[in-house]
Amino acid sequence: MNYITFNDVSAGDSIVVQFGEKEERKIGLIDFGVRYPKRTGIFDGARRVNPSKQFLEDHEVKEIEFLVISHPHSDHYEGLAEVLEYCEAENIKIKLLVNPFYPLPQSYFLYNKSLGKIISAFRNSVYINKIIPGANGRHNNSELGELLALIDRVCEQKLVELRNSIPINWEIKISDDISFKVLSPNYQEFQRFQRKTTGFWSLFGLLKRYDSGDLINSLSIVQIIRIKDSVILLTADAPISVLKRVLEEQKEVISNSQFLLIQIPHHGSGAAAYFEAQAWSDIVNQSTKMAIVSNGIHGGYTHPHVNVIRHIDGCQFAVFSTNHVFGILDVFGESHTANTKGVQKFKFDGASIAKS
Ligand SMILES: [Zn+2]
Ligand SMILES: [Zn+2]
Repeated sequence: MNYITFNDVSAGDSIVVQFGEKEERKIGLIDFGVRYPKRTGIFDGARRVNPSKQFLEDHEVKEIEFLVISHPHSDHYEGLAEVLEYCEAENIKIKLLVNPFYPLPQSYFLYNKSLGKIISAFRNSVYINKIIPGANGRHNNSELGELLALIDRVCEQKLVELRNSIPINWEIKISDDISFKVLSPNYQEFQRFQRKTTGFWSLFGLLKRYDSGDLINSLSIVQIIRIKDSVILLTADAPISVLKRVLEEQKEVISNSQFLLIQIPHHGSGAAAYFEAQAWSDIVNQSTKMAIVSNGIHGGYTHPHVNVIRHIDGCQFAVFSTNHVFGILDVFGESHTANTKGVQKFKFDGASIAKS
């Protein structure tokens, strides 16, 4: 049996995938959000916990099949340093490390060791300083710089077998019938990102079309996991333009599937850049449709949006959520269920996907 677990990390993502039977189980880790007892002034009653590191400890994992950092926002990478340090200490091999940090313009992540922070070589420095801290602003340049240095270090120590920036459309076989593929950002999407962060207009900070968070979100790695009749689509903070492109390209695969689990992008944000009703209405045919949102107790964002949840629920998707807040509360009422609060774990074997 195979499992995918969406941990409750308040605002952020932390996903663990387990493939195969116990003795030869393979592990994939996607994103490394951390749960805090207190975030943006709202107490959620939990202690700080790093679920991905906890998982490695609890299961005495010796090898990681793939480790994916979807994009450079701290609610997705914050716990990664602890995970890598743990891998170093325990000599845990990482067969594939995927992240979208490296194809960025060189000036982007120029890490200055003596200053202890990333300095941008030239004109885009002002803008870069604004976008690096990430959505919640708790992480700063120096911490991301240290993380990049740590990734370099574990790679030098040969703990990482293969480091890949964005292996777009490269199908990775987990076993005979299970595959994993990265679908975004594609070349055009990446070029768009580069145009926005470098070049003449960035000199004057005239980057009007994206705010700082949206720009980084456009780098989000979208992934598809396939096993026989089942499809799992992980979307991180991908904008709707990317999701639509992916759904179009995967149309045949998705409409031929019987069992579908889709992560609602960007923690269920209702902003036009992330949600469009049509995209969800167009997903038909499957006998089982599930949507999962890893949303946060985060007053600053109020994700997921009530309209998003209402619409997706109306499209015959069973909706699952890591927190019973905002749109979830509005649509499903005051009392939470196991499907709308806490860790969401699903089992899938190709002939079904079900809440575990
Ligand atoms: Zn996010
Ligand atoms: Zn993000």
